[in-house]
This record gives sequence, structure tokens and C-alpha cells, in this order.
Amino acid sequence: MRIAIFSRGPGLYSTRRLVAAATARGHAADVIDHALCSPFLAGRKSTLLHNGSPLELPDVAIPRIGANITTRGVSLIRQLDALSVPHTLSPDALLLARDKMSCLQVLAGAGIDVPRTVLCFSAWEARQVARRLGPFPVVVKLLESTHGVGVALAHNLHQLDRVVEGFLQLQDRVLIQEYIRESKGCDQRAFVVGDEIVAVMERRAAPGEFRANIHRGASAVRIELDDASQELVRFTARTIGVEIAGVDLIQSRRGPLVMEVNASPGLEGIEGATEVDIAGAIIRHAEQKI
Ligand code: ADP
Repeated sequence: MRIAIFSRGPGLYSTRRLVAAATARGHAADVIDHALCSPFLAGRKSTLLHNGSPLELPDVAIPRIGANITTRGVSLIRQLDALSVPHTLSPDALLLARDKMSCLQVLAGAGIDVPRTVLCFSAWEARQVARRLGPFPVVVKLLESTHGVGVALAHNLHQLDRVVEGFLQLQDRVLIQEYIRESKGCDQRAFVVGDEIVAVMERRAAPGEFRANIHRGASAVRIELDDASQELVRFTARTIGVEIAGVDLIQSRRGPLVMEVNASPGLEGIEGATEVDIAGAIIRHAEQKI
């Protein structure tokens, strides 16, 4: 089978692992930079141009779309749909997962518990609503943050003003969220492939840090989720419509909350912490698409 892995970086850990897993299962794997792909609509001659020439279409595609190239990634996947190329990432699910507020709204609408969150468009609005989230600190987030970069704590109104004003220079809106103090700097990442949870890790923030991102120095260990949390993770992935996803949970006094869904989750941290062959699971899932 010919598998195309759409990725910006052939040298990235996740991409290398997917190529190795595909090759080990006897497939031909090509890494294609989607930043060089132009969807071309021309009736029955429609195709996907790569570097200006028609791409030989693969049997199945695994899109790995980085956070800074979502729009281009979505149009690539819609073109794969138009060309009837099976793939592993719904464009609508990708869009939903990339907007933290829309994602939480859809989850909350499905009855899933999420942190108490408000969307604000100005520092004035943030000041007005912050007190509804309980005592300070509160968490301020950019809607499209990754690796914890656009996530900050504000301990008082003055800090809230400064953080919100800074974030509003980058985007026109921010999230203000209750701080889940009882999580003590830990969260859980469940890796979903198809309808299965293939690996779970617990991440613990580095000393003096509240963000449990591995890119922020967090440590990670393999854990098992109880049955209720497993069902929560599977229902979350189904609700957003993702087949391959990282679902992040945070433990609060009122039970596990879904914090976010990552539609192109990295493999390095979780394969390292759990020693599960996640790349192999993704390739086996892709095989079932045709
Ligand atoms: P990113 O998508 O940039 O990783 P997240 O929303 O996942 O941003 O937040 C990064 C980290 O910050 C989380 O993994 C978690 O450890 C911590 N965090 C985020 N929101 C909260 C919150 N409401 N309460 C406590 N910790 C939080």
C-alpha cells in the first residue's frame, strides 16, 4: 500500500516513527510537505499539485497538520476528500480542535464536563468576568496555543490586565478559565486511535511551573485510566470527530474535566513515557481505511 504522510518535517520524531512503522508493515511511505501542496480544481482533472506538478495519489493519507498551518491543512484534507483519497483526519474535526473555545463549547453541549471558561474580547471584559470564576488566580489562554506557550496564570486584576492585553496583541480574543488548583500541576494525556485508547500518560509540571507540557520541562509516566475516564475520553473523541487524537484530562474536585483535544498529537513524549508503539497503531488504523 502507498501511504502519504503529510508533514512539514521528515526529520520530526513523529514523522520518522510513522515512516518506520509503515515500512515495517511492508508499505511504501512518502513524506509530503503540505506547505508545497496546492489543491487544483479542474473538473475530472482535479488533483493535488505538489511543487506545481500533479501528485501521484496515495492509497491512504495520514495528515499531520502543525498548529501554524491549520487553514492550509484543512484545504489539503478537503481536496483529499474531493479526490476520494481515504485519510485519518476530518477537516471539520481539525478546525474544531484547533479552536479551544469552540471545542469546549461542543463538548459542553454534549454534556461533557470542562473547566469553567469565558471567552473575552477586551481587557475590560476580562476584568468584569474574572470574579465569576472564583478567587484568583485565573488561567488566561490564547485560543490556538500549543506547548503551553499561550497559557498564563494571573494572580490579581493587575496581572490579568497585563496578560490579556499582551495576548490580545496576538489574537482578537482570549479565554479566561478557572484555575484547577487541586490538579497540582498534573494532567493526563490519553492517545486515541480509532475507538481505542492506545496509551495514557500523566504529565507533571516542572517545579515552579503550573503547565504540564513536556515542552515546558514536565515529566511523564505511563498510567491506566479507570473505566469512567476511558469512556469519557472515547466519547470526547467521538463528539469532536477525531480518529487520531490526544485527549487531555485534568482532575478537579468535581471529577475529571476535559481540557482539550489535540488533532495532530506528537508521538515523542508519549511513546517515550509509555513504550507503546503508537506509530504502529496509527498505521494499522490507516490500513483499515481502504
Ligand atoms: P496547550 O494547548 O498550549 O498545551 P493547555 O490548555 O493544554 O495549552 O494548557 C497547558 C497546560 O497548562 C496544561 O497541560 C495544564 O497542565 C495547565 N493548565 C491549563 N489549563 C489549566 C487550568 N484551568 N487549571 C490548571 N492548570 C491548567
